[in-house]
Amino acid sequence: MKFHLEAGFRLSADAAKAREALAEFFAGAGEIIQKGAPEGHGAKIESWQLAGNRIDLVVDSDRYVRAHDAVLRLRKPLSELLGKKYRIGVRGIDVSKFEIAVDSDRPIAHKIPYVRSTSYQDGILNLELDVGEGEMKIGESELVNRIPDRIINLLEEKFRDYGGKSEHWELLWESPAREPRSQKDPTEEMLRANWIKHGSSRGQWIYGPEGTHIFRTFEKMVLEEILRPLEYREMIFPKLDTWDVWKKSGHAQGVYPEIYFVCPPKTRDPAFWEEVMDYYKVTHEVPLELVKEKIDNPIGGMCYAQCPTFWGFLQGTTLPSDELPVKVFDRSGTSHRYESGGIHGIERVDEFHRIEIVWLGTREQVLEEAERLKECYKRIFEEILELRWRMAWVTPWFMAQEGKTGLSEMQGAGTVDYEALLPYSGNWIEFQNLSVNGEKYPRGFTVKSQKGETLWSGCSGVGLERWASAFLAQKGLDPENWPEAFRERCGEMPRGIRFL
Ligand code: ATP
Ligand code: ZN
Ligand code: MG
Repeated sequence: MKFHLEAGFRLSADAAKAREALAEFFAGAGEIIQKGAPEGHGAKIESWQLAGNRIDLVVDSDRYVRAHDAVLRLRKPLSELLGKKYRIGVRGIDVSKFEIAVDSDRPIAHKIPYVRSTSYQDGILNLELDVGEGEMKIGESELVNRIPDRIINLLEEKFRDYGGKSEHWELLWESPAREPRSQKDPTEEMLRANWIKHGSSRGQWIYGPEGTHIFRTFEKMVLEEILRPLEYREMIFPKLDTWDVWKKSGHAQGVYPEIYFVCPPKTRDPAFWEEVMDYYKVTHEVPLELVKEKIDNPIGGMCYAQCPTFWGFLQGTTLPSDELPVKVFDRSGTSHRYESGGIHGIERVDEFHRIEIVWLGTREQVLEEAERLKECYKRIFEEILELRWRMAWVTPWFMAQEGKTGLSEMQGAGTVDYEALLPYSGNWIEFQNLSVNGEKYPRGFTVKSQKGETLWSGCSGVGLERWASAFLAQKGLDPENWPEAFRERCGEMPRGIRFL
């Protein structure tokens, strides 16, 4: 990895009288810009030139002290030198050229922010950055904000992702084999029995009284077997996530292909919309192109992961020690994901229902709570639902995103997927998960503890469509075949709506 930077220090006055002192300074500057790098590495000043009230530098470096870091490191000692003796101030840094060369086994086709052009030759990818003043150009504040480093991180991420992500999957526990009571696709069975019908939107279902009762029974079980005994408090989390929330939760890094975007109207003035209304009244079609012109930029998207909006409640606060661990849950609305071609029955839908369980405290509290929850889940799946299921330790979403590779870096944080067998297809389906997210959320939303300990958090999403898919795929729709403990909790099934 090589960096080539041409930049200048802007001075408050002509520095001709300091020429000799500057020559001495730059001759000895290696000490500053190679500090911390292995022997023979770091940055090097290829040339410097005093041109009236500016000093122009050409800096080359490897990965150890990157050229832009070198220039930033020089600023303070240079200011001291010029300020003390010559009363000259360093006003700023101008960038006139910035090139990065990285080893790579292939060219890239991506458009990368701040990169004006790329070329590839003999195993080296060369990037020419856009420099100067103004938007999307590399200037002083971009150097200070480490934009070049972020570009490198992005490239490394792209190289890693090439050829598909290899996700971690490690079996933690497996239930005994249980003879399935059904070999049928539960969605088709429910459709046949009129328990559910397709909604008007893709991957959306209308749940009739029977389908709804199954969901409510699952909810009741989660309440009675987990949330009440473990003393969780119910909250209502917003279901429209703004960009600001997703910036803090980390989702802004990659959630785009899977979200439903939300756009407000440009104005609520009926006159502004009259054209649209009139068009509809006459044609009975909604004029989509016209609507597009009249709506504003998306302000965010519909609920995707359920817990991010909760953190606004704690954002910027300090929690008293006796408030920890905080344990809450939300079941106040739907989650939405654009699953594209992946939708299947109620197993993979664009609109789903989920109970989200969130807890936070010290690292020990959070890890202990995760174990308590796992015990409760196990009891439900073993003793009430009698599922054929298993638990696996998998790469958590945030870890892949942050380029972490070793599970050992995680100090016990990570994700457990719960999977159940679908006898009709032989596939295993993830029906819920449980994540210990480490410091991620408390850090992202600046939540502190009274004693100053690092706060951790965890969350677990109980997907009702997935629970129903797993249970009904294995046990079928006939209550006769359901485990006694579930039948008790379910009670009598409600009467469905009949059709002629
Ligand atoms: P998958 O790999 O099946 O797409 P995921 O890893 O995207 O799942 P998470 O982001 O971990 O799922 O979401 C947590 C839980 O939310 C899942 O365990 C599942 O119960 C539920 N869930 C996620 N996506 C869907 C969907 N499209 N339809 C129904 N339930 C879903
Ligand atoms: Zn969550
Ligand atoms: Mg998914």
